[in-house]
Amino acid sequence: MSQRTTTNFFDTKIEFLKGVGPSRAATLNKELKIFTFGELVQYYPFRHEDRSTFHRINELNETMPAAQLKGRIRSMVVIGEGHKRRLTVEFTDGTGVVEFVYFQSIDWHLKHLKEGNEYIAYGKPQRFGQRFNFSHPDLETLNPENENGGYFQPIYNLTETLRKKYLDSRFLSKAMRSLLEQAMPHFRETLPQELVQKFRLLSKADAMWYIHLPDNQQALNQALRRLKFEELFYNQLRLLKNKLLQKNEYPGQIFSNLELLKTFYQNHLPFALTNAQKKVLREIHEDFKTGKQMNRLLQGDVGSGKTIVAFIAMLMAIDSGAQACIMAPTEILADQHYRGLKPFCEALGINISLLTGSTTKKGRKIVLPGLSDGSIQIAVGTHALLEDTVQFKNLGLCIIDEQHRFGVAQRAKMWAKNEVIHPHILVMTATPIPRTLAMTLYGDLDLSVIDELPAGRKPIKTEHFYETKRLVLNGKLKEEIRKGRQIYVVYPLIEESEKLDYKNLSDGFESITRAFPEYHVSMVHGKLFPYEKDFEMQRFVKGETQIMVATTVIEVGVNVPNASVMVIESAERFGLSQLHQLRGRVGRGADQSYCYLMTDVKLSKDTRIRIDTLCETNNGFDIADVDLKLRGPGDLTGTQQSGIMDLLLADLAKDGAVLKAAREAADAILQEDPDLILPKNDPIRSHIDALRKEETNWSRIS
Ligand code: ADP
Ligand code: MG
Repeated sequence: MSQRTTTNFFDTKIEFLKGVGPSRAATLNKELKIFTFGELVQYYPFRHEDRSTFHRINELNETMPAAQLKGRIRSMVVIGEGHKRRLTVEFTDGTGVVEFVYFQSIDWHLKHLKEGNEYIAYGKPQRFGQRFNFSHPDLETLNPENENGGYFQPIYNLTETLRKKYLDSRFLSKAMRSLLEQAMPHFRETLPQELVQKFRLLSKADAMWYIHLPDNQQALNQALRRLKFEELFYNQLRLLKNKLLQKNEYPGQIFSNLELLKTFYQNHLPFALTNAQKKVLREIHEDFKTGKQMNRLLQGDVGSGKTIVAFIAMLMAIDSGAQACIMAPTEILADQHYRGLKPFCEALGINISLLTGSTTKKGRKIVLPGLSDGSIQIAVGTHALLEDTVQFKNLGLCIIDEQHRFGVAQRAKMWAKNEVIHPHILVMTATPIPRTLAMTLYGDLDLSVIDELPAGRKPIKTEHFYETKRLVLNGKLKEEIRKGRQIYVVYPLIEESEKLDYKNLSDGFESITRAFPEYHVSMVHGKLFPYEKDFEMQRFVKGETQIMVATTVIEVGVNVPNASVMVIESAERFGLSQLHQLRGRVGRGADQSYCYLMTDVKLSKDTRIRIDTLCETNNGFDIADVDLKLRGPGDLTGTQQSGIMDLLLADLAKDGAVLKAAREAADAILQEDPDLILPKNDPIRSHIDALRKEETNWSRIS
């Protein structure tokens, strides 16, 4: 609990609420961590039942999700023995008869329900022969308060204990009503009047009332919109304010020399850059000239050519006497960056080194001093670069490749590698993050997007095959190999079933060697020593093997342009974005590429959507949107980053429009009043004060 200094209405302990008292308060403290009026009123219902109208029994149909009836109990009988014992209740409203069935709390119901009395019933109608049947409907004695219907019953998340003690949604909504009746004058508006009017939002007080006790769907929608707007507004305000703070507070080195870049451009660049690549490089160059520290996110689909952009950015840093580093999530990828960049560096007279977990002691004795005395200008590596023993003379630019594998903490650690003047940070990701998510997750970074693939790439053709069609698949593979192409076959690897997965992998390897006796096959997986992995990778890169059987170690970044076919085994076991990443390993050369998704015949609905989406589109952003809808934002971002977005009400998959409006509003306010000192922004200041008492995250904003 937060230590509040001022006493106010919302700090009152819930035991003082009418109908609660010490014993129930203790249960609510324990079960829901609700201690004060303020916490109770923020315990929002997760849905409402529409009790506003009554249905007549002769109007019921099976498609109704729920119905509310007003009528009389005609008879009650207990049937059956033991676990089959049940209470059936005949209920009529004069237009027909329905049956209620209770399997639980039978004795309680027998005691409290009476034949001939009138009730309101609510539940899901199901047809059984001629009659409709309700299993465990909710029954309430008819009384002057409820006889006309007209309200929406809020439904709250409950625990077993709460239910047992009858502290259920009905109880909570009564408690809420008496709390809200007292609380109305105490709610303070948290948004400036300007915003409330511009976006036609309910007042804070009204929204708080209607989110619990709306009169109709419309009132509920408006309450939700208002509160989501508020939540997202403060979320964005915080991120934007942090960004502003960073910009003004932290200087960055100025890199304006472009000699190296010109030499590289004129003599060594193997292809023309795409317009998107050029645009991003201009954005980076602009940042480098400002004297402020850059924090930029570069998004680009797999194969869009982020590496060369990273390299050119590094050239700009080196040209002004600084060092640069690029950090990758796996050794294979770090190694590949190193090999790819080394020839360019040699041609330009730049000293580049590799540092990973498997760099030997001897190797380290050369690399570490080279970094600290500045003779090594570019370091390529893995997490190893983060170690404290790695000291740079003057790190000016740090590039983090495939950010989704790294957390925010690593970003911060890199920052600290230059205490004098923090390095510019460029984070690159091929996981296309939907804009809505990027705004909350990376709202404190500037965003660059490569939205164009290099010319001449043919879209990958994706097909789905059931296990039963393996021979057809093998035929297609042979055809491609005969044309001189290479093939990846990828198996899922999920830790809990590791043993089984390796068996699948080695069985797969065997059946492939049997099916393709005339060709050479490589195999790579996480259990190999790095040098073994490397050896196998290199055989494939050099074209000595035609088929690469692998686990997902090849997921990220590996680049073999001659490989034009990706077979994904047990595709149902991969997530959508992972499938897209895997597919991105092919389609990098000028040839037509193919991706084959192999699955079992039985597929769940979600799996089918994943497979169909992949067959239909190559667009990473469309895929990310579907993924967000299927999985929700939590999964997409990984736990490391979830702290940034503890949103109570807003759903990033659905509330994109509100988010956009909230962000624009926050941005406009900060543009006009960066320190939030104008009187009209008073509500913001005092709300931030209140929030700051609850969480420390706001502490940087003053
Ligand atoms: P990613 O964005 O997935 O990291 P890479 O940087 O690995 O992509 O680039 C994929 C491939 O495309 C590499 O072989 C690279 O050399 C090539 N490439 C990058 N930019 C261009 C370009 N403008 N024209 C042609 N090929 C390019
Ligand atoms: Mg890459």
